[in-house]
Amino acid sequence: MSRLHFIPTPYKDESALSLIYRCATKNGFKNLADFSFACGGLHFSSLGLAQFHGGIVHRILRSDPLVDDEQMAAIDLAFPNLVRITGENFAQFKKIKIHHSLLRTNLALCPECIKNGHLNVMHTFSFTEICPIHGNILITQCPECKKTLDWTHLDDFHCRCSFDLRSSPLNLADDSCSRMVYEAFCSGDQLFLIV
Ligand SMILES: [Zn+2]
Ligand SMILES: [Zn+2]
Repeated sequence: MSRLHFIPTPYKDESALSLIYRCATKNGFKNLADFSFACGGLHFSSLGLAQFHGGIVHRILRSDPLVDDEQMAAIDLAFPNLVRITGENFAQFKKIKIHHSLLRTNLALCPECIKNGHLNVMHTFSFTEICPIHGNILITQCPECKKTLDWTHLDDFHCRCSFDLRSSPLNLADDSCSRMVYEAFCSGDQLFLIV
């Protein structure tokens, strides 16, 4: 693959997956499956593994000569480190460790977040059912064809059936708990997040 012409700079608390999506889209790829093919295989064996620090996508982004030190530091922070504690795997984010079993294996999206073109990191965790920014219940399946969202074949946030997921009906819910968890995540309150 020729060099990428655009390397995304992470937004505040943007998820690694969101960064990967933006990188693929802005470089002209239809979806992550096409991006992976062009890169010679990104080993997207699982949603969780695609997002780890030191993984192939992280390495591609940070090795590009376009990336300056400040952008590289931000990219590094978006990809959690895999750490082992007493024989268990955890994802180490900026200030918080999350047990690997709490990382989603299927995609969940906030329809409002995708209207802004990027996803907040909290969608990564199975304990987040409501977006802490917009108060919407995250969607895990297409409202049109009812199929589970296919994270490798989202084409500019369109389902494979062509439904634009930005048009998903909004289901607002009480987001107070979700916001508290997000605050604990941001402040590094590990005790609050012990699970
Ligand atoms: Zn949202
Ligand atoms: Zn669909």
